[in-house]
Amino acid sequence: MELENVEDLYPLSPVQQGMLFHSLTAPDSGVYIGQYTCKLRGALNPEFLKQAWQQAWDRHPILRTMFVWELDEPLQIVRQQVELPWHEKDWRDRAELELARKTFLQQDRGLGFALDCAPLTRFTLIRLSDDTYELVWTCHHLLTDGWSTPLIWDEVYACYAALVQGHQPELPEPKPYRDYIAWLQERDWTSARQFWTALLAGFTEPTPLPGERGVANASSTEACFRSHLLDTRFLTALQDFGRTHRLTLSTLINGAWALVLSRYSGERDIVFGLVVSGRSIDLADIESRIGLFVNTLPVRVEIAESTELVPWLQDLQRQALDARAYEATPLSDIQTWSDIAAGDRLFSSLVAFENQPTTPQTHTLGFEVSDIDARDQSNYPLVLVVMPGKQLELRLIFDPRLVSDEVAKRILAQFETLLQGFVEHPQTTLSELPCLTKMERQLLLHDWNQTQAPLPEDICIHHRFETQVERVPEAVAIAFAGERLTYRALEQQVNQLAHYLKRLGVTTNTRVAICLERSSEAIVAILAVLKAGGAYVPLDPAYPPERLQFVLEDANVAVLVTRRVWLDVLSAKCDRMLCLDDEADAIAKSPTHAPSSDAIASDSLAYIIYTSGSTGKPKGVPVEHRNLVHSIEARVQYYPEAVRSFLLLSSLSFDSSVAGIFWTLCQGGTLVLPRQHMEQDLQHLAHLIATHNISHTLCLPTLYALLLADASRSQLQSLQVAIVAGEACPRSLAQQHYAMLPQTTLYNEYGPTETTVWCSAYRIAADSAVPSEAATIPIGKPVANTQIYILDDRLRPVPIGAAGELYVGGAGVTRGYLNRPEQTQLRFVANPFSLGGEYLYRTGDVARYRADGNLEWLGRRDRQVKIRGHRIELGEIEDALLQHPDVREVAVIATEAAPASPVREQQAFNLKNENEFERLVDRLTELEPWQAEELLGSLCQQPVEASA
Ligand code: AMP
Ligand code: MG
Repeated sequence: MELENVEDLYPLSPVQQGMLFHSLTAPDSGVYIGQYTCKLRGALNPEFLKQAWQQAWDRHPILRTMFVWELDEPLQIVRQQVELPWHEKDWRDRAELELARKTFLQQDRGLGFALDCAPLTRFTLIRLSDDTYELVWTCHHLLTDGWSTPLIWDEVYACYAALVQGHQPELPEPKPYRDYIAWLQERDWTSARQFWTALLAGFTEPTPLPGERGVANASSTEACFRSHLLDTRFLTALQDFGRTHRLTLSTLINGAWALVLSRYSGERDIVFGLVVSGRSIDLADIESRIGLFVNTLPVRVEIAESTELVPWLQDLQRQALDARAYEATPLSDIQTWSDIAAGDRLFSSLVAFENQPTTPQTHTLGFEVSDIDARDQSNYPLVLVVMPGKQLELRLIFDPRLVSDEVAKRILAQFETLLQGFVEHPQTTLSELPCLTKMERQLLLHDWNQTQAPLPEDICIHHRFETQVERVPEAVAIAFAGERLTYRALEQQVNQLAHYLKRLGVTTNTRVAICLERSSEAIVAILAVLKAGGAYVPLDPAYPPERLQFVLEDANVAVLVTRRVWLDVLSAKCDRMLCLDDEADAIAKSPTHAPSSDAIASDSLAYIIYTSGSTGKPKGVPVEHRNLVHSIEARVQYYPEAVRSFLLLSSLSFDSSVAGIFWTLCQGGTLVLPRQHMEQDLQHLAHLIATHNISHTLCLPTLYALLLADASRSQLQSLQVAIVAGEACPRSLAQQHYAMLPQTTLYNEYGPTETTVWCSAYRIAADSAVPSEAATIPIGKPVANTQIYILDDRLRPVPIGAAGELYVGGAGVTRGYLNRPEQTQLRFVANPFSLGGEYLYRTGDVARYRADGNLEWLGRRDRQVKIRGHRIELGEIEDALLQHPDVREVAVIATEAAPASPVREQQAFNLKNENEFERLVDRLTELEPWQAEELLGSLCQQPVEASA
């Protein structure tokens, strides 16, 4: 540094410190670089203009300032003299002027500034025509704020006029920025601390940004803009509303912004940032000082939905007035006084008002200034800039990586809708204020849920199967362990067992438990129960006896179909135990024709499947024939590829097995069943797919990823359709899939048991496998005769892109839980909308609609987790642990398996193979003792559940 040219040296203001920090950490981001453009028309003397700027610049130490930071404390150094970088261009004959201009402006911003080199500004004067110029003035925000701009212009005009007239300009003595630094240093922040601490007490979670979590897909870091003009008539009405209730425009804007943030995030306690001028402090001549005085302060807004609008806005105004006394408080201090975790941002959106003094008329100079525009990029991802004028301009400046242009556009429209609500319904409460535009409501409540498709009403699921028996009697219906059953043979066995069951008293709605391993006889039993009129209740023999006993009682099971091997395990009792080993002969003597099925109607029960329950007891979901017929019919409509052969990987006690069994048997395809527990043997599965020429399969994404990793391309080639369901599908899986099987279409299905297997699906296009926006694949759109609404806790649709709870309506929605009126009431709520039937099922899943109408699954509202496809309520485990007399308190949490955990490896070792055994021994020697133990343990343990 040349010391000769140094005039002064002093610390930075807190705001400057923040800017310096962000500018240094993101040097190429363009952050805090302001670009001001305007047109100058008339008889301009460019040389005088340049000199005028230089003179104005010379007057103010802050404008000659540069920064040094490699010291204990960063300092600003004022140069005695700087020469303004001034460039001139003649573009009078330039083709494609607009494009050239845009490119130039962008390049100019991209140049940035070396912060340790004064001056942090540059000028370009472009001649557009004989009498029109454009001035581009680029300046680092460390030097000045928006308020200073017209003040600087005033001086430039004065200097220009003086140059024209050939005398010295008469300007007041400039007030150095150093005064402000001294003023700050003398402050006692005690009362400010009290004020901000009280204001922010108890606020711990930063308000999420609308459209956060990367809907947008942009690599550019440069901020984007979107503008929206309020028309004059509406602006007048808004001002009238303000006058009537003594509310300033900024209060109305702040209120509407808080509501937008609340409607998007579902939060009721909102904090956002407000840019204040900093020009009401008690520093002499503060209003006419040039320099950086703006500050950003938090605004906290409580949104109690029953609050009346006007008093709420008045409160907000009071808060703003109270805060004025503390408007110079450093934000970094406020942040530390708040309850927000260090490192988190107190807020990520800002509201800024551009209400600086206006630029004076310049016709006395011989030219006029027009088309003024200013671009300014802050370090915040979303900024609402309000520019009052004849027409109020609202401008959103957003980080395209976090907020998409679509979202920005909708936010502005919703913002206006809320302001309109203020004017039109001044007496209303906050909850009544509309936020969605009419068009958005139409999309969310109507267009995207227009899924009506023909659905036969008086039909049962086994009728669909019988149609296939008539159509393709000799086709193979089931392939299992070397055995092949044709449709005709299957039908006969089913009929015999159905007759037998009827003799045992099974009739419409009788519950029949089936405790069998996955096998052809289990499928026969399922169909026989349905044909006899009963509802089947699958019991997994591997479950603990207490659980099986509980289900038998809870479902009021009349008959239990099982095998001798399970009878001991099943200490469970019910009225009638049907042991297939003992009664095979008797069953075989029953007639092979279909039993009469007159009493079975579409609202008869088809099955009851149990899911985990937070009360410590699993909940039974009773599904009717009409639900099941819908669920299968929707598949037939959705999937263009008919099922030729389906590999069933689910356990029969998961409802995804229902998809495979009935979809296949209602389309005349072959259902291929791996033996129980063989669904973990990846080589076996690959072998089954190859030998049975499997066209379709459905499983958990985790299992599918393992299968892809283990099998060879040629083994899986027959697959036309691979469906993953039950858990979020990672994008990496789609990549893995399409890299290996480009001809196979991958689908992601979503749906809780309560809505009959599925309610939405997404066809993953091969090109969506490229890494892009979100980490997970969407769950798609509602399937036929199904409605999906994303609602807030007042059952209002949330904006497109906002997270809310996923509710399902339509033909798949079941009738509620068995014997759980309270749970039913909680989860099956009256449907407030015109589409979707009487009840909506409230899933507890958090999701959002994308702009293209596809849904994204984001997580759970409650403590339900999925572990290897099992739906588990952590409360259920806590409840069970609490039963122990020595346990007083308990907390159960689900953690990700450590990535290095060898548990995942178990799939990779096939211990029947000698080489594999050697490989395992090798691997064990590489591991830490605890890891080796875990791997060994996992190899002996229950396998990965193969269902969804
Ligand atoms: P279940 O009733 O066992 O089928 O479990 C339903 C739950 O599994 C849903 O409520 C979701 O939490 C989760 N789920 C199912 N399918 C998906 C999917 N494709 N993506 C993310 N989560 C899913
Ligand atoms: Mg499911």
